[in-house]
Amino acid sequence: HDLSAQASVRVGLEQELRRALERGQLSLFYQPKISLHDLQLIGAEALIRWHHPTLGEISPDRFIVLAEENGMIIPIGDWVLEHACQQMHLWNQTYEPFGPVSVNLAGAQLHQPKLLGRIQQLLRTYDLKPGCLQLEITENSIMSQTEEALEALHQLKHLGVQLAIDDFGTGYSSLSYLKRLPLDTLKIDKSFIRGLPDDPHDAAIVRAIIALGRSMQFSIIAEGVETQAQQTFLAAEGCEHIQGYLISVPLSATEFAETFLRTSI
Ligand code: C2E
Ligand code: MG
Ligand code: MG
Repeated sequence: HDLSAQASVRVGLEQELRRALERGQLSLFYQPKISLHDLQLIGAEALIRWHHPTLGEISPDRFIVLAEENGMIIPIGDWVLEHACQQMHLWNQTYEPFGPVSVNLAGAQLHQPKLLGRIQQLLRTYDLKPGCLQLEITENSIMSQTEEALEALHQLKHLGVQLAIDDFGTGYSSLSYLKRLPLDTLKIDKSFIRGLPDDPHDAAIVRAIIALGRSMQFSIIAEGVETQAQQTFLAAEGCEHIQGYLISVPLSATEFAETFLRTSI
């Protein structure tokens, strides 16, 4: 590819992304999170999917970055929040409660002055307790926030929404700063889980993150758990929760409910 060809692919994808929302090409999949204590379901993460009629499935790793650069992340992020809340409302009609659904929040969303009001409105509209919603914010985007954006986090926490730091270990956290954040959960990045249990570096890093998180009274979850040996290592080291292909790949809302939820009637 020469540069101009790459640029025109990018512009084309941007135009398609602008239309994806109104054309109903976006959806949410759900991946279960379980407790290592009793292997019970404790929550789920909502993950966006883009199915394009001719380009097929486009990975969020590709289009979320694009959306963050061109501002589309604001309407897309709002769509994700609304759909996750609507889905929880629907599940509440039929199924037993199972723990919070987490939504990934981009750094730019924290800068919206209306974010808190919007979340309060969604919780009211869909008759949800604030604790039903968890927001996952990556370590990198949390660490580059302004004071105002951090104030928004404190307000969300005060409302009762749960907060998690995603992809932990890949950024540059100042520990004193980390301690001042109103976080509930620390999510260990999957890049450190991959080498478990044999890679001594990954094992040392994961042990250290678990010890750090526990001493700061965060709940700890590992993402990207693919093997029984990884699960066993994490359980022995005191990690509370796991998420990954070992339990399930992300599923459509219907498949997730059929596989993991218990009817309440
Ligand atoms: P993330 O939030 O860290 O999500 C975890 C990613 O790991 C997901 O990729 C998930 O499908 C994948 N995964 C789950 N289990 C395993 C496993 O056992 N092994 C491996 N190798 N991967 C696993 P996905 O769905 O492609 O999403 C990629 C990233 O895109 C997410 O990383 C998140 O940063 C972003 N993203 C996804 N949905 C949204 C969204 O609604 N809003 C925003 N702002 N970002 C999103
Ligand atoms: Mg996440
Ligand atoms: Mg992650």
